[in-house]
Amino acid sequence: MFEKVLIANRGEIALRIHRACREMGIATVAVHSTADADAMHVRLADESVCIGPPPPSKSYLNMAAILSAATITGADAIHPGVGFLSENADFAAMVEEHGYVFIGPEPAHISLMGDKVRAKEAARELGIPVVPGSDGAVEGEAEARRVAAEVGFPLLIKAAAGGGGRGMKVARNEGELMAAYSMARAEAKAAFGNDQVYMERYLGQPRHIEIQVLCDGQGGVVHLGERDCSLQRRHQKLLEEAPSPALNAAERKRIGDVAIEAMRKLGYRSAGTLEFLYENGEFFFIEMNTRLQVEHPISEAITGIDLVREQIRVAAGATLGITQNDIKINGHAIECRLNAEDPATFAPSPGLVTDYHQAGGLGVRVDSHLYAGYRVPPYYDSLVAKLIVHGNSRNECLMRLRRALEEMVIDGIKTTTPLHQEMIAQPDFIDGNYDIHWLERWMAEKAEG
Ligand code: ADP
Repeated sequence: MFEKVLIANRGEIALRIHRACREMGIATVAVHSTADADAMHVRLADESVCIGPPPPSKSYLNMAAILSAATITGADAIHPGVGFLSENADFAAMVEEHGYVFIGPEPAHISLMGDKVRAKEAARELGIPVVPGSDGAVEGEAEARRVAAEVGFPLLIKAAAGGGGRGMKVARNEGELMAAYSMARAEAKAAFGNDQVYMERYLGQPRHIEIQVLCDGQGGVVHLGERDCSLQRRHQKLLEEAPSPALNAAERKRIGDVAIEAMRKLGYRSAGTLEFLYENGEFFFIEMNTRLQVEHPISEAITGIDLVREQIRVAAGATLGITQNDIKINGHAIECRLNAEDPATFAPSPGLVTDYHQAGGLGVRVDSHLYAGYRVPPYYDSLVAKLIVHGNSRNECLMRLRRALEEMVIDGIKTTTPLHQEMIAQPDFIDGNYDIHWLERWMAEKAEG
């Protein structure tokens, strides 16, 4: 097992990884920008190294600085966390070339899934159902017209290098096609430096359902059930729940079996997530995330498995030591992402946290790097706390969530807590009756009064 792990991240996720290491008796190295010198992950780690000024490009994305920090401190392995370099195949390869272990998948799998055209092709070959659409990239207007005639309207034009919902355009009819096609290409070029796009059927009212997998790269593959992440604004998830209120046991088994079979064929190692759109009983693959996800704690809550510990064990060469039969789904879990944002306008709200108290009690977990007197810097992601609640049933989970949201105190900055309180009181949410457009529709209705 490793003796020392460098955590190439910040915020609550850096703490999450630190905690897993500590429980395993592994020493930790925090890296931080000058803006994060007082951050909780720096305070808790055994050692810390400043890797640059506040802008991420100069610190948390600075591969050379991170590798130097690993050398100076004598770390054995690097955990990239979530975001930043976590899906950068070049970084993973560089880590390994320098003699450290990358706690994640093989670089080749990161790069395969990072190119959405190749990922979709691979998914098809691995027997995963995909959204009907173009065979690979759509090169030129004539091909766009031909594919549109085949796929039908409405359709979605998506960037091959896409991420964060950028470079995506809907064409509702033939008249909108060319404008949408050229806009998607231009946006993709600007955002990712790559104007390759592909096309697929635009699903009208899907849910976003994702399967958490855990693999050892030595034949051991399990899934931890699904998460329903349909409550999104601008393709950003706000609240996630597991299991999905929409799936029945047979559907869960069917998509879980598909995921296991595919990961086994691929020879995947580490934790990963297969993302699907789900509509009328059918699943359509949209992408695979080759890393830990922000919403992983709800899967941990319903399975009792520590995903970060398993990532570390597997990276050190251990086998999973469990099979699918050992995984029991127990009760229901919900995560609310508490962001430092205005709950009505979503404008960022960094600044001094004057008072902080986190919810507690049975079935409540808070992953947060906040403390009273901490100043939320303006340079990074606005996520400041994750409230994760577990109950024996969805109903119990909802009751507990209501109570836990009331207990959270984050003073001095605005957070999305009131939005969550209002949202979970909506009859549609209580009934589990929502799709990926529900949240924006509801917010628009609220705005109209
Ligand atoms: P990104 O990598 O930019 O996040 P995804 O492919 O994961 O892109 O899609 C992001 C979101 O866009 C999905 O969660 C869903 O809300 C929406 N979306 C993607 N593909 C489709 C589709 N074919 N039809 C309808 N909505 C889609």
